[in-house]
Amino acid sequence: MVIPALLGEAVLSAVNSSLDTWDQSAGGTLIERRLIDWTAERIGLGEAADGIFTSGGTQSNLQAMLLARDEACTLVEKEAIAADGTIAKSAILPRLRILTSQVSHFSIQKAAAILGLGYEAVIPVPCDQERRMRTVSLAHELDRCRREGLIVMAVVATAGTTDFGSIDPLPEIAELCARHGTWLHVDAAYGCGLLASPTRRHLLDGIERADSVTVDYHKSFFQPVSSSALLVRDRATLSHATYHADYLNPERSARKLIPNQVDKSLQTTRRFDALKLWLTLRIMGADAVGALFDEVVERAAEAWALLDTDPRYEVVTEPQLSTLVFRYVPPSDGPCDPDLVDRANLHAREALAASGAAVVAGTVVDGRHHLKFTLLNPETSLSDIRHVLDLLAEHAGQYLALHIEPEFSGPRHSRAS
Ligand SMILES: *Cc1c(COP(=O)(O)O)cnc(C)c1O
Repeated sequence: MVIPALLGEAVLSAVNSSLDTWDQSAGGTLIERRLIDWTAERIGLGEAADGIFTSGGTQSNLQAMLLARDEACTLVEKEAIAADGTIAKSAILPRLRILTSQVSHFSIQKAAAILGLGYEAVIPVPCDQERRMRTVSLAHELDRCRREGLIVMAVVATAGTTDFGSIDPLPEIAELCARHGTWLHVDAAYGCGLLASPTRRHLLDGIERADSVTVDYHKSFFQPVSSSALLVRDRATLSHATYHADYLNPERSARKLIPNQVDKSLQTTRRFDALKLWLTLRIMGADAVGALFDEVVERAAEAWALLDTDPRYEVVTEPQLSTLVFRYVPPSDGPCDPDLVDRANLHAREALAASGAAVVAGTVVDGRHHLKFTLLNPETSLSDIRHVLDLLAEHAGQYLALHIEPEFSGPRHSRAS
């Protein structure tokens, strides 16, 4: 976490303003709007762009899906009217689908459930070896939905998947969405740090064609929790989140163009999180923040090289960002029962945490338990990583030695039994 943001956190708590209405937070409103403009410009969303700070990527994704859902409904209603008919929203909802890669964030499923569509409305699109959405499969699903009378209300591409940091092929996906007239949401909760990167911004090429984008400053802009935003290409679409209340944001204030941020938000009382990013950018500058993100990305690349040549581990993919997903594997003359190896990996993770030395994350890839580093601290050194890998291998090796099936027990593992 960067120090200017920490200072901002202290100040915003002390000032304790809520960014719902202009009369409660004029200065805060202007600062937040400035940062939304700054982010939209970095993305390249164009003149009509707008957005709002949120509590996190989960909420940003939920709001994006709300806007996409209501845009899709409006379109279908208009088509019905053009054909001299009408259609009830309740008749449209069951036909709506969201296409997203099989390794996208689970908040998309949650959003679908909250929005009355159900988990089944989310169709997982297969990925390639690098865990990026396969555009051939996406094209296939888009066609299939059309044939079956289903309405794809949004394609959700991920720029930086939570496990692998993989970035879906944004230009190709944007092309398909344009061809099908489908809303493109890019979940850049994790990958948004590239927006400030002096050397890697090109990895996000194509993001400028999105209809909405999720960014989590509290991930790759090194901000304290919470600090996140939803950006949209067309500010008019935010009106799906608008509701006027006499006691807060009466319609008459909208007519007078009073900038009540609550008109664009799912929240009412809302923290002045923008102050943290404002101070960060004013004091450090965007390049310095981007350079920090570059540093963790480089550290992950070095750690990948380490893991890739280490016979004790296998790594799933070469990282594009700063995560590493790997798995302890026994020596080639050792046991190879994958269930046993699964348990050894689970044990290594728990034993390491219990020892108090370090905590590593875990995930499941292709049905198998893996270990995971998400490197977001530029101070983490390669020797820290090497040390943790040694500890993990020791715990896993000990577990195997104790639980080994008799037919596998050779001299290599007898020492610990
Ligand atoms: C972390 C993450 C989210 C959720 O963000 P929160 O701020 O934790 O709510 C959404 N999408 C992706 C890809 C993420 O990595």
